[in-house]
Amino acid sequence: VETGGGRTADDAGGQDVGPQNLGDTDISAYDAVVVGAGFAGVTLARELAERGGRRVLVLEQRPHIGGNAYDHVDDAGVLVHKYGPHIFHTRIDRVFDHLSRFTSWNGYSHEVLADVHGTYLPVPFNKVSMRLAFGAERGEQLIAKMVARFGDGAKVSINELREEADPDLAEVAEYVYRNVFLYYTLKQWGTTPDKIDASVTARVPVFLSEDCRYFQDPFQGLPTDGYTELIGRMLDHPGITVHTGIDARAVLDLATPGVVKVAGQPFAGTVIYTGPLDELFDCRFGRLPYRSLDFVFETYEQDHFQPVGTVNYTVSEDYTRITEFKYLTRQELPGRTTIVREYPKDYEPDAGMDPYYPVLDAEHLALHGRYVALTRELPDFHPIGRLAEYRYYNMDATVANALELADRLLEEN
Ligand code: FAD
Ligand code: UDP
Repeated sequence: VETGGGRTADDAGGQDVGPQNLGDTDISAYDAVVVGAGFAGVTLARELAERGGRRVLVLEQRPHIGGNAYDHVDDAGVLVHKYGPHIFHTRIDRVFDHLSRFTSWNGYSHEVLADVHGTYLPVPFNKVSMRLAFGAERGEQLIAKMVARFGDGAKVSINELREEADPDLAEVAEYVYRNVFLYYTLKQWGTTPDKIDASVTARVPVFLSEDCRYFQDPFQGLPTDGYTELIGRMLDHPGITVHTGIDARAVLDLATPGVVKVAGQPFAGTVIYTGPLDELFDCRFGRLPYRSLDFVFETYEQDHFQPVGTVNYTVSEDYTRITEFKYLTRQELPGRTTIVREYPKDYEPDAGMDPYYPVLDAEHLALHGRYVALTRELPDFHPIGRLAEYRYYNMDATVANALELADRLLEEN
């Protein structure tokens, strides 16, 4: 991989280098331009180069590859995730097989506890949580009631559970709503669980099981050598050139209808765009809102900080959760450990923040649709990924969609 923009692709630095130009890059030497070196862009770059024999130019505004999955070793020797904890999990064979070409997996299964006034309850709220919350005897009664209503092993979203009229089920619903969802969601989204899209809280349903893992997908774990290394290997192909530190908005010119110019030159090839669409079009229809996060890292001189990978603070604190990376990475590092606290906030575009979570509601999905329509007027221009599609995708869904887009693009030619 040839890297440009003045920084190397595996640079662990935290400082953005700002927009630069592409110098005397000859755009006609490329068949495809990919904006963004996260999972979406990198999956497409690899497929187009490897399966399609295309010459691909990848432009990334940050000083490093990896998108939000980027990780690096901190001063304490802990492999930390700069943009928040990322746990890979999937039930999509194609995604697992594809990524497994570039990495082995460390076998980690994610576990999360909610700190409820000092008591740790497994999340998703399950049978174990029920006994801890209601006491052994009452807990068993309520479990029996829940199982009779929904079936053993069922997953029930908090919104569904809150519709139950039975007083016992309503008691469980009220407890879980108050102690697991309400305050956490207020912090994370700035509003109550009933005012956000139902799919968001449904990610963490009440689970009628003894299984205390956060995800039940058959494949889960972290790439053994980290995400940046995995993504670096995906980019390591003779057909791919990567420039970091390049803001594509300074390089792409969409002013002429039906024409894409790259670095001042008309470009007839494929453009893959994985950044926010509103900013690409100067927000002409208005801004797409996102939630952002501040990540505060801290290293302690002790073996462990907390009992599991993540503790959610569901009734107290300003931060939503604390993640201790050593559990995730399975590193043996006696006497030191690094944690990260997540402080949610609204995304403000010019305040040096990153957009992390799309705010899913009818108004903004419609607004996003108007921007997508603009991209359809451009030849061979494809918005994809969590930002460009304005969807709450996990990594596996991101990769699955990118592989499908690659299928379509390679079929067409
Ligand atoms: P990104 O990873 O965001 O990559 C887009 C890239 O495009 C970025 O590097 C960005 O800098 C670049 N870019 C944007 N605009 C421009 C521009 N104008 N010019 C140049 N470059 C540009 N998923 C899981 O499966 N498991 C998890 O545990 C998990 N945890 C998460 C935790 C947090 C806090 C967040 C925010 C997300 C989490 N995800 C998780 C989701 C995961 O991050 C995404 O599914 C995945 O990273 C999306 O990949 P992407 O390529 O679409 O976007
Ligand atoms: N949630 C909550 N309490 C929890 C866990 C999750 O209220 O203990 C809600 C919250 O609204 C959150 C959503 O469920 O945004 C999805 O949680 P998930 O852990 O999937 O969020 P992510 O890891 O994507 O930030």
